[in-house]
Amino acid sequence: MNPIKKVIYNYGIPLIGRLFHKKNKYINVIYYHDIVDGEGYSFMRTNFEVFKRQMEYIAQNGYTTVRFDDLRTPADEEYDAKRIIIAFDDGWKSNYTKIYDLMKCLGLKYNIYLAVKEIGANPDYLTWDEVCKMHDEGWVGFGAHTYTHPDMSDISKIDTELEFAKADAVFEKQLGYKPLDFCYPFGAYSEESNEYISSCLEYKRIYTSRMMYSYRQNGKLIFGRNGICNDESFGVFKAKLKGYFNVWRTIIG
Ligand SMILES: [Zn+2]
Repeated sequence: MNPIKKVIYNYGIPLIGRLFHKKNKYINVIYYHDIVDGEGYSFMRTNFEVFKRQMEYIAQNGYTTVRFDDLRTPADEEYDAKRIIIAFDDGWKSNYTKIYDLMKCLGLKYNIYLAVKEIGANPDYLTWDEVCKMHDEGWVGFGAHTYTHPDMSDISKIDTELEFAKADAVFEKQLGYKPLDFCYPFGAYSEESNEYISSCLEYKRIYTSRMMYSYRQNGKLIFGRNGICNDESFGVFKAKLKGYFNVWRTIIG
């Protein structure tokens, strides 16, 4: 990023987002992927110490963290500057081994969207025992993330039966309920795929990877989300936490 763009990103966007923060109507969402001991990388791998400092900030500044299971009424879904959804994409092993004890210790609840085919099959991912333990202890909520994690921007190329029906059947068999929260793999979605999900699937809330104001469509809540990047400043993290970066799509497109 060139120096001018950097200043706009670090200071300009948070400032504009702050001016328009009332456009946030629904609970704000931040998300991560894998948490690692070594070098972090962009949105995919966050260094543990970077992550820990961010979580400590959330814990020490009076935030309430919300599990998907807590979103029972429209009022639960409304924006509140001190309520936040912390989410993790895919179901990486570290979401249990590295952070579960830390999050409990800090009193922070979180959520994971499961790429179902990998769970219990790929050693880099969670096992179903870990998933069930985290859920049963009331600390972690779970959502759907398809079966094979395909790019869904062209839904005609997707085996929808496999990606939704099979993934959700395995999820339900293991956890005992159907997922109500769905996150697009790679954040890649199209009007067509949104239309399909809205019309024939039972998810209540759909999560994109766009920094935008969340909105309702066909009775479903479509979330903008803020990816937390390992390499960004703490100021940017705080602005994303408050929902200031949701103005991004309005300005940049
Ligand atoms: Zn993913």
